[in-house]
Amino acid sequence: MNATDPDSPALQRWLTGPRFAGLPMRGAEQPPPALSFEFFPPKTDALDLQLWACIERLAPLAPRFVSVTYGAGGTTQARTHATVARIARETRLAPAAHLTCVGATTGEVDDVARQYWDAGVRHIVALRGDPPPGSVYAPHPGGYAFAADLVAGLKRVAPFEISVAAYPETHPSALSAEGDLDNLKRKLDAGATRAITQFFFDTATYLRFLDRCLAAGITAPIVPGIMPVTNLAGLKRMSAMCGTAVPSWLEHLFDGAEADPEMRRMLALVVAAEQVRLLQANGVDEFHFYTLNRPDLTYAIAHLLGVRPAAAGGV
Ligand SMILES: Cc1cc2nc3c(=O)[nH]c(=O)nc-3n(C[C@H](O)[C@H](O)[C@H](O)COP(=O)(O)OP(=O)(O)OC[C@H]3O[C@@H](n4cnc5c(N)ncnc54)[C@H](O)[C@@H]3O)c2cc1C
Repeated sequence: MNATDPDSPALQRWLTGPRFAGLPMRGAEQPPPALSFEFFPPKTDALDLQLWACIERLAPLAPRFVSVTYGAGGTTQARTHATVARIARETRLAPAAHLTCVGATTGEVDDVARQYWDAGVRHIVALRGDPPPGSVYAPHPGGYAFAADLVAGLKRVAPFEISVAAYPETHPSALSAEGDLDNLKRKLDAGATRAITQFFFDTATYLRFLDRCLAAGITAPIVPGIMPVTNLAGLKRMSAMCGTAVPSWLEHLFDGAEADPEMRRMLALVVAAEQVRLLQANGVDEFHFYTLNRPDLTYAIAHLLGVRPAAAGGV
């Protein structure tokens, strides 16, 4: 700005233009965002109690769906089925079952999908899944090769609602960012109606990803996956596997908080709160929370976003 010229446009804008001292706060008159919550299937009785306490706490927020992850191996898969089926049976929540195609024949995957349909589950999060640690992915000779093939197969089994995964920072084994975007488009063209993103911390990267999706003709919702972070060491392990960048500011923020779990929870709240508020200010009105089966941070962030317990809430 040229401060010596009182008529300079820059000075006039500075003197008379709007001031943004912070992110805008939304009032009660604005509609709350649509939320979904992700859980993992419990391995022990104690973890089972923790999951159900988490579900009971979050259910009054009336998420549009809750999803349950699916791991490699028979017992993990049985736990996913048991958890999803119990949510369908015992709550008013709409459950979504994660389902992967890695290491299974199309027949095996279709059978699992049919069991979900018979248990009243109408929504599948369709994923390729990962190979065992240390090995490179190879499609099962008699299986669905990639998630797009799985989506098409599921649609042949039953008219499921289908969500798929998206990667604002590009999937780690993608040949190129463009190829990964083409893959997302294939999954949506095959019948998925929504993508949920891998968790991320660089909000600008997500917003640029939305622009790239639109430019590629993708108009389905790309719901940001929000991970409240309390444990930096654990986060770094997970991020290394899934290709999410851990920014240096996040490391710096948690530096010195290792022995103070209460402070780490407060930091987690601040980081996730800033992220969702920035997204909300950019027009994002749907969020998927990786709850890690702990409700409090998700509940507080949902409150901050304007979500309040439904009058007739409860499981
Ligand atoms: C929201 C969300 C939930 C998840 N839940 C689970 C879960 O419950 N259980 C679990 O095990 N994992 C889960 N994952 C992880 C997921 O399984 C891995 O990220 C996996 O590596 C890729 O799965 P995908 O469905 O994105 O695969 P795909 O969409 O099939 O893509 C995988 C890779 O292959 C490439 N590709 C696709 N098609 C082709 C082709 N024709 N030729 C060459 N390359 C191709 C893609 O660009 C990409 O790099 C989840 C991920 C997200 C984001």
